[in-house]
Amino acid sequence: MFISLEGIDGSGKSTQARLLAENLRARGHAVVLTREPGGSEGAEAIRRLLVEGDPDRWSPETELLLFNAARRDHLERLIEPALARGDWVVSDRFADSTRVYQGATRGDLRALVDSLHRLVIGREPDLTLVIDMDPEVALKRGLARSSGEDRFEDFGLPFQQKLRAGFLALAQDFPDRIRIIDGMADSETVAARIEALL
Ligand code: C5P
Repeated sequence: MFISLEGIDGSGKSTQARLLAENLRARGHAVVLTREPGGSEGAEAIRRLLVEGDPDRWSPETELLLFNAARRDHLERLIEPALARGDWVVSDRFADSTRVYQGATRGDLRALVDSLHRLVIGREPDLTLVIDMDPEVALKRGLARSSGEDRFEDFGLPFQQKLRAGFLALAQDFPDRIRIIDGMADSETVAARIEALL
């Protein structure tokens, strides 16, 4: 079973990915907890290329190719072998982040995003949980504050609002796979919502 968690910056998805992995392990499942961009040695090296440096280091198209290179390596080296062993995979972000960030919010590359996905990835998670959070609340809680270590510094409210709308629209495009989880509560409550859904 392959589960991805998605959401805006500061939605709490990384915490929820960790809690979900712990919860599944407590039930006796073998779980691989991973993240994107990154997750495998090669993809983590590409992550550094992506997040470090000037904001205009890469054109939107080059950035999209790097995300796909990282995802392909992650899939080949970590995700597919884990699924083949029968492990569960919980990934903090997967292809939906690219559909929203590179496809809609940071560029207008959705057609190219979809073509590349078909050509070099060709796989969706079995289940995707979008942790939905009001960006204003995320900003107020300080959750969406930049760590200062990545070049994606556009954490402004309008950007986060576009991201949120992008994830909600995506849930309508993939109704069988994507579920929205209300993320506006403490992390234990949100984890309980996910557990109830599972
Ligand atoms: O989720 P995480 O904080 O690790 O992501 C690292 C950075 O990459 C964040 O600033 C996020 O907004 C950005 N990102 C992106 N496009 C993606 C995935 C992540 O711009 N497809």
